[in-house]
Amino acid sequence: MEKETVSKASVYEEWLEKNRRYLWNPFTQMKDYFVHEPVIVERGDGVTLTDVKGRTYYDGNASVWLNVHGHNRRELNEAIIRQLDRIAHSTLLGMANVPAIRLAERLVEITPPGLNKVFYSDSGAEAVEVAIKMAFLYWKRIGRPKKRMFLSMKSAYHGDTVGAVSVGGIDRFHAAYDALLFPTEKVGYPYPYRYPGSPEACAQASLEELRQKLEEKGEQIAGLILEPMIQGAGGMVVMPPGFLKEVERLCREYEVLLLADEVATGFGRTGEMFACDHEQVQPDLLTAAKGITGGYLPVAATLATDAIYEAFYGDYEEMKTFFHGHSYTGNQLGCAAALANLDLFERDGLIQRIRESGEALDRAFEPLRCLEHVGEVRSLGLMAGVELVRNRETREAYPAEERVGFRVCQRAKERGLITRPLGDVITFLPPLCVGKQELSEMVQILHSAIRDVTEK
Ligand code: PMP
Repeated sequence: MEKETVSKASVYEEWLEKNRRYLWNPFTQMKDYFVHEPVIVERGDGVTLTDVKGRTYYDGNASVWLNVHGHNRRELNEAIIRQLDRIAHSTLLGMANVPAIRLAERLVEITPPGLNKVFYSDSGAEAVEVAIKMAFLYWKRIGRPKKRMFLSMKSAYHGDTVGAVSVGGIDRFHAAYDALLFPTEKVGYPYPYRYPGSPEACAQASLEELRQKLEEKGEQIAGLILEPMIQGAGGMVVMPPGFLKEVERLCREYEVLLLADEVATGFGRTGEMFACDHEQVQPDLLTAAKGITGGYLPVAATLATDAIYEAFYGDYEEMKTFFHGHSYTGNQLGCAAALANLDLFERDGLIQRIRESGEALDRAFEPLRCLEHVGEVRSLGLMAGVELVRNRETREAYPAEERVGFRVCQRAKERGLITRPLGDVITFLPPLCVGKQELSEMVQILHSAIRDVTEK
């Protein structure tokens, strides 16, 4: 037993050294990475990850908000292997494959009505790029080229490619790229916790700002892009009820396409298959990725209405073709995983289970709400954030340099829970299959980690 521990430790040292020598990790200050010991994952089972040292952690981040049925789920593994025995990948450039066709049909069936065409890509950011380019060209194709600007929300996050960053609004991530981006119009996302009034008044103020912007610039605006119902990387901020429906109405009134970025919220995360379903909103374009393959393989999709599709349809000479595509688009392994993912959703009655888990999570959070430095706990389904503050009464934030959120996550990791901070908002998005007991153990670890850091 002792021998095994020694050998695991030396294996870890070797990988750590090579990691630091060769790998540049995303969204990671590599200097920190040299100071704090990283988890080097070796395997996953259900809602846990095990590292090369043999230590097991709860995956409170569902990889990056995307694992659905747990790690190492037999049905998903088998679906991928079955497909691998046929072909791993061909292309969708001018041809097709059966898993991609079958998946497109299923996606049209499960997304909000009116979205009838599926354009694949490989990541959430790409799906957003596709949606932006489609919206931009749509107006040009139908003879209204002046409508070429985009409206997006402050604190929005839509991915890291240049187009997606242009419609993003998180200064910490995006401001440095300013000179590289195309100009966009921004309006405030309702953030009731940080608004000096009721949630209703907060929603009204944001809607009024949006209405004024549309009144002023609507003729030049091609589309409004937003994260429906809950803004993720912006701090897990939940929209007040009715807000999204009203945004949809304003978009129709001012002839602006509604682009719903469901990369994070899609596939059950918020307790509905898509977040737009909470308010029966029907966007013109919808982006999906993350949970689409159950969190196994990189597949993304942009769904469009017939009206948008038809604007690109015509004789080759008319130059209406949508000139966009990636080498791995429509990958068979990914599509096979996505089909198996959707089968499991049905077989496990997962949407209903997520709703119940969401309610259990809300109850499990009750003790956290009493902690001295917890300002607000927000969640929708299994998408949650805990906002830490220096002073609960005044809602004063901690100074950024104290890195309180980061330290809480480090402490949670030591106690066996992986999660990530967004500033001082601790995100909690476990795999959607999480059981009630696991959920409560994870929240208890989070509770202890917050106390360890903030009450000392
Ligand atoms: N849109 C939203 C709303 C997201 O949360 C993310 C990723 N967190 C993206 C787009 C980008 O997705 P990807 O990381 O797959 O490019």
